[in-house]
Amino acid sequence: MKFLSIPKLFDIHTHVQFAAFRDDADLVIKRARDSGVWMVNVGTQKDTAARAVGFTEKYTEGVYAAVGLHPIHTEKSYHDEQELGITNKELGGFESRGEVFDYEYYKKLAENPKVVAIGECGLDYAVFVREQRERQQKRASAETCGEGGLPIEERKAKQHRVFLQQIKLAAEVKKPLMIHCRQAFPDLIQILSSKLQVLSSPPGIIHFFSGVKEDAKELLDLGFSFSFGGVITFSRDYDEVVKYIPMERILLETDAPYVAPIPYRGKRNEPLYVIEVAKKLAELKNLSVEEVSEMTTKNALALFSTGIESL
Ligand SMILES: [Zn+2]
Repeated sequence: MKFLSIPKLFDIHTHVQFAAFRDDADLVIKRARDSGVWMVNVGTQKDTAARAVGFTEKYTEGVYAAVGLHPIHTEKSYHDEQELGITNKELGGFESRGEVFDYEYYKKLAENPKVVAIGECGLDYAVFVREQRERQQKRASAETCGEGGLPIEERKAKQHRVFLQQIKLAAEVKKPLMIHCRQAFPDLIQILSSKLQVLSSPPGIIHFFSGVKEDAKELLDLGFSFSFGGVITFSRDYDEVVKYIPMERILLETDAPYVAPIPYRGKRNEPLYVIEVAKKLAELKNLSVEEVSEMTTKNALALFSTGIESL
């Protein structure tokens, strides 16, 4: 992607194409762009990926897309609002469909110049941890669970296969990865290390990073960047890792409609609120909000210019 101007802030991971914005997506995007906030709407399965690309066509600049298959959509299972950090009760939970990754479908979308990354893709073991807990409560068999009673190792292997296909796609279209990872950092790091030579440089971003400092160190060594969202405004669990990661590798996100920052907690999140994340990051890094905005925006523009002419 070649950018012709520079925004004030860049929300690099959001979902304005989701059902939560069905009635007012255009207004939400307008509010953001009028305030100098650009965004990447991130797809999670076929429909939301195609919708994200569709949104880019309405605007000359400032609205981009990422396309991919989220690990939780690789199998049919129920994900509650708690697990996804949805703080607005009205948004509710949803049923994952169990999509088979269609390489050609995603490749066609990924070739669009306004698609700046492949994802969200990656690994999510949080569902297995939750099931295990539930099973222990029920004292049921510890061997199988979930989708058709498949063993957890097979379900993990399926996530690995789908992730590897998306790594292949990112390499083919020369775009960075937009990675989702929950409770699976050792496996994620192992897969990324083995595939690093085929990926673009820089290879991508770990969105809503929830790992520990040691994970961050290994991923920094592999060349990855990290994005943080509203959670850093209300949880102190991320302070240490945020302070540890150099500013050159940090980007901002909202992950809207989920996880709204203070002072909007419990409400639907939106890209405009990325300013609250910038304010908190400035505080944690002992920088001004202007410095944080400028640096994170520069990082985003550089990452999304991967494989194309530099700025
Ligand atoms: Zn997301």
